[in-house]
Amino acid sequence: MSLSLNAITDELRRLKASGVDRVVVSDEGLAALRGSFSSGAPGGAAPEAPAAKPPVRVPRPPPEARAEPAPAVAPPIVALPQGDKRVRWDALMKLVGEDPVCRSKLKPGKKVVLGVGSLDASIMFVGEAPGAEEEVQGEPFVGPAGQLLTKMISGMGLSRGDVYIGNIMNWRPDLPVGPDGVQTGNRPPTEAEMAHCLPYLRAQIDIVSPGLVVALGATAAKGLLGPKSFGALGEVRGRWHDFGGRPLMVTYHPSYILRNPVNRTKRLIWEDLLKVMERAKLPITEKQRGFFL
Ligand code: URA
Repeated sequence: MSLSLNAITDELRRLKASGVDRVVVSDEGLAALRGSFSSGAPGGAAPEAPAAKPPVRVPRPPPEARAEPAPAVAPPIVALPQGDKRVRWDALMKLVGEDPVCRSKLKPGKKVVLGVGSLDASIMFVGEAPGAEEEVQGEPFVGPAGQLLTKMISGMGLSRGDVYIGNIMNWRPDLPVGPDGVQTGNRPPTEAEMAHCLPYLRAQIDIVSPGLVVALGATAAKGLLGPKSFGALGEVRGRWHDFGGRPLMVTYHPSYILRNPVNRTKRLIWEDLLKVMERAKLPITEKQRGFFL
């Protein structure tokens, strides 16, 4: 397969905009690319490397290009009853479940997804959006990325039940379904979609009132810090920010590790989690400090 340089450049721009700051390029791919540049052949592979793979692994389609039109109604105003955390959370769940925009986005048999975990958690993780498994079970982070998040949490000496896990989105952003009616793949939500769901995430943060929040990946960070707050995730990752007076740590989404399962990337995310543990005053053993070194 050969790609024009314009197509490659466009793809890289789209990836950068969706928060990817690193792509894997095989040696053969690089050689082919260099060959293309030096030979000047438009989109042609280098003669020495005819079987080279495309140089860029494309994880996901861009958000705006393939999305359904933005929700046409104003973002919801969340008014919850007086009461304890459980009463307010249950009322919130009912609101989200009855929200006509959320409902209109569900495919038959699929569920809206609100957060899960302890309403007294001192640490709240925020991800992007439900995927295939999550929209079936109605629970965030239960698919492959969720299993990895669960491992990360247990590496911190905690369990899923000790923390609260939410998402920017309450529904799975849609892509065209195949002839079998099944959606393959995920896309990041559009700004309009995020704007619709954010009041529900804010309400969860108000209810749980965690001591700190961890944004997993660029979409979560943009949802919490603002859509234009940064370009590449590397600009904000690994540092403390402020979200409504609460410390906010930005780190990679677990799916980044699934795509790059090497100690180097595991260590980067782990260093961010060590900062979280320090700030949350969790005990840290020498063994934990040395993970993935
Ligand atoms: N990825 C997310 O960001 N959230 C989920 O709930 C699952 C996967």
